[in-house]
Amino acid sequence: MALIADVEAIVLRAPVSDPNDLDSSSETVVVVIHDEDGTVGIGEADAPAPVVRELVLMDDRHAWSRGVRSVMLGRDPFEIEALHRDLYQATIYHGRRGLGIHALSAVDVALHDLVGKQLGRPAYQLLGGAGREAIRPYATIYPGVPGDRTIGELMHELARGFERALELGFRAMKMEAFFGDLVSDRELVGCIQESRRLVGEDTTLLVDFGYRWSDWRAALWTLNRLEDCDLFLAEATLQHDDLEGHAKLAARAETRIGGAEMAATRYECREWIEYGRVDVLQPDVNRAGGLTEMARIAQLAGLAGVLVVPHGWKTGITAAAARHFQAATPNVPFVEHLSPDLFDSPLRRELVSPEPAIVDGAIELPTLPGLGIELDADAVERYRA
Ligand code: MG
Repeated sequence: MALIADVEAIVLRAPVSDPNDLDSSSETVVVVIHDEDGTVGIGEADAPAPVVRELVLMDDRHAWSRGVRSVMLGRDPFEIEALHRDLYQATIYHGRRGLGIHALSAVDVALHDLVGKQLGRPAYQLLGGAGREAIRPYATIYPGVPGDRTIGELMHELARGFERALELGFRAMKMEAFFGDLVSDRELVGCIQESRRLVGEDTTLLVDFGYRWSDWRAALWTLNRLEDCDLFLAEATLQHDDLEGHAKLAARAETRIGGAEMAATRYECREWIEYGRVDVLQPDVNRAGGLTEMARIAQLAGLAGVLVVPHGWKTGITAAAARHFQAATPNVPFVEHLSPDLFDSPLRRELVSPEPAIVDGAIELPTLPGLGIELDADAVERYRA
């Protein structure tokens, strides 16, 4: 097996129209691992890109504060778990939960891509093989932050998104209800009832409440009035670190309560299961520790009767990594899919190809080696920071 010959970290940036908006796909850091034979694997992290690049390329300072590249050079990429363990230890001073784990996530995904290509096999087979017959994406429908628009204008944008997502073949979608003070809780109930009517009874509907509440009883009041909407998941109801509040809400609400979209590692996800008592964990492959760690998180969740529906709001690299994770994992009913046809993001649209077909809500299991995508060299040069 060809050994690791080089590790690059490339920062890519598209123009940002409004820094108050919530588009995490306007920037990325792509980790490119080269082997001795010239085969490459790619991954990305959903974190401030220049900082992750520094963590990858920095010099070694001491045993617990080493550069990621330095740890990896000359190693056998096939030993993915050993590399994961060594990188965790070598970055533990500053890593453990945050940016160090985000960097490790990009590396781990790139290793799966590289080894898959070396073996001529899709990356999900490195996770143990097919855990399901097809991939089930949900489309994120995001009208943007309100700005000075009315709720009528935002609902009109959402309605257009729902309609387009159905045309594109999605059968599950998530309404991003980042309405803030524009609506009362009672008016929010009306907006979600209207959304259910628009998508029809046969579409799976998730709602992202955008961390609307600090009061779990207010969240419960709202969810109780939405029981006839048959929501699959209530995401980002309470503040992210309010695990006690999540536990109280999850014990009383009929709807599945999600959380942990910003969580890193199985250790943090365990807290969400044990203290947060959520029904659904939503960590991101490219923040939580890569495919290696996501597989562990899914096993942990399975022991507790908890589902995993990964967050994913980045480029086509993250979308591909999430597909391979779901392909191998039974307790992952959906993956977030930021469709380039539904959300205008230059990096999401241009950085990698091909984009898989969605037919009647499903994507076929991947067949191409590694992640099954290729970087567009022109796009890399266009957006290189
Ligand atoms: Mg979200």
